[in-house]
Amino acid sequence: MSKNNDEIFKNVISHAKEYGFVFQSSEIYDGLSAVYDYGQLGAELKNNIKAYWWKSMVQMHENIVGIDSAIFMHPKVWKASGHVDGFNDPMIDNKDSKKRYRADQLLEDKITRYEKDGKTDKANQLQEAMDNALKAEDMTALRDLIVEHEIACPVSGTRNWTDVRQFNLMFSTQFGAMAEGSEEIYLRPETAQGIFVNFLNVQKSGRMKIPFGIAQIGKAFRNEVIARQFIMRMREFEQMEMQFFVRPGEDKKWFDYWKIARLKWHTALGTSSEKYRFHDHVKLAHYANAATDIEFDFPFGFKEVEGIHSRTDFDLTQHQEFSGKKLQYFDSELNEEGKPYGNYVPYVIETSIGLDRMFLLTMINAFEEQDLSTAEKKDSRTLLRLHPCLAPIKVAIFPLTKKDGLPEKAREIMNSLKIDFNCVYEEKDAIGKRYRRQDAIGTPFCVTVDHQSLEDDTVTIRHRDSMEQERVAIADLEQMIGKRVSWRNLLA
Ligand code: ATP
Repeated sequence: MSKNNDEIFKNVISHAKEYGFVFQSSEIYDGLSAVYDYGQLGAELKNNIKAYWWKSMVQMHENIVGIDSAIFMHPKVWKASGHVDGFNDPMIDNKDSKKRYRADQLLEDKITRYEKDGKTDKANQLQEAMDNALKAEDMTALRDLIVEHEIACPVSGTRNWTDVRQFNLMFSTQFGAMAEGSEEIYLRPETAQGIFVNFLNVQKSGRMKIPFGIAQIGKAFRNEVIARQFIMRMREFEQMEMQFFVRPGEDKKWFDYWKIARLKWHTALGTSSEKYRFHDHVKLAHYANAATDIEFDFPFGFKEVEGIHSRTDFDLTQHQEFSGKKLQYFDSELNEEGKPYGNYVPYVIETSIGLDRMFLLTMINAFEEQDLSTAEKKDSRTLLRLHPCLAPIKVAIFPLTKKDGLPEKAREIMNSLKIDFNCVYEEKDAIGKRYRRQDAIGTPFCVTVDHQSLEDDTVTIRHRDSMEQERVAIADLEQMIGKRVSWRNLLA
C-alpha cells in the first residue's frame, strides 16, 4: 500500500467515526475485534444501499421476490451444504509472537513478493504447489511450503511455526435450555441456505415460474481467522444475496446475464468502470461450474465486493438428500423439440454482495479532501460526494440568523419537506461552517432562509458538489429536490 493510499484509508476510517457513520463495537470496553456498529448516519447510508439493491432486484424484476429467513437454521442444513465439513481456513501460529495467520494468505503474500521481484517462475511454482495442497487439504504440505520458502512472521521475524490446522469458520451456540435436549446449532455463515430451504415454499405460494429468483438481505457470521481492513472483513456482517433458479443447460446464459447486470448496478452510481474488474475463478468451489468476483480498486488493492456463482443443482440436491423431501420443479412449458421438461432440480446462479464492503466502497469513493485556496486565502473542505439517492440526509435547512422570525420560517419549510426527505435543521454557527459540516456528511442540498424569504417566499439552495447557490421559490423546493434524489435516477 503506498503511503498516500494508506493515508486516505486512515482518513476515511477516522471520518467515519467522527461523523457518526461507523463505531467500533463495545468501544468503551476497548472494542470487540472485527465487529462494528453503524452510527446515526451510517445506519441511514446502509439503509439506502439496501433500498437500492432491493428495489433493483425485487421491484424491478417481476420474476424475483424477496424473503427474510431466520438466522438460526436446523443443524442438518449446514451438514447438507458442506459447511460443517468444508468451511475451513488453514491457520498457523508463530510460536514467538503468538500471532495467528491464515497459511494460504502467508503464501499468497510470498507469491506477490516474488512477482514484484520479477521472479515469475518461482511465483507460478509456489502458486501451483499451494493450489494442490489446498485442493488435497494437505496441511503438512502447506506448512512445508511455508518453511521451504523461508516465510517469517512479520511481527517476530522468526520462522518458529506451529503445525497448520483446519479451522471451521462457523460460530456455534446452544439452542434451547442448557439441560438435556439442548442442541448445538450454528449462526448462519451465509444467507443463501435460507433461500434454498424455502425454494418450494416460495415457488408454490408465489406460483413462480422458472426462471425466477429469491432475494434476501441479512446478517451472516464467520469466525474469520484474521480480521483486518476495518469493515472489509468482519465476524458479523450483512449480505445481499439472490438465488436465480433456471433450467439445467441455461445456467451459462444466466451466469453471463447476471455478471453484466450486477456490474451495471455498481456503475450506475457514477463510479468509473475503471475502478471495477472481474476476477474469474480458475479454481472452483466443489459446487460451482463458473464463478467470478466483482472487485473494486480499494486503497489496499483490488478486492472482492461481490461474487457471482453458478452453483449448479448442488444445494437443492444436497437438501433433497439430507431432508428426504423432493425439491423439484415441474416445468409445464415446452422446449424446442416440443417435449415437456417435466420434473427437475433447477440450476442456480447466485449473486452475493457484502453490504458492509459496499458501504466501505461507497465511503472511500465519495471521500474527497478539496483544496479551495485562492491567491488571497488558504481554504479547504472535506466532502462526501455520495450519490443523492444514497446520501443519509437529503436537505439541511438553515435560518440565516436566529431571530426576526427566520427560525420559524425555516421550521415551516422543514416540517413540510421532512415528510418526503430526510432533513436536518441547524441554526448554530456561521453559514459557511454549517455548509462545511453538511459537505462532510454528503448532504446534497442546503436551503437557507433569509430576510428576503419573509417577503417573497424564496430561499437560496446550495449544491454540495459545485457549491453553487440559486434563488428558488419555496413552493418549488419539493419538486426540485425530489427530482434529484429520486430512485428513478438509478433504476430507470
Ligand atoms: P473472501 O474471499 O473475501 O473471504 P468469500 O469469497 O468468502 O470472501 P463469499 O462467501 O462469496 O465471500 O461471500 C459473498 C460476499 O460476502 C463477499 O463478496 C463479501 O462482499 C461478503 N463477505 C464475505 N465475508 C465477509 C466478511 N468476513 N466481512 C464482510 N463481508 C464479507
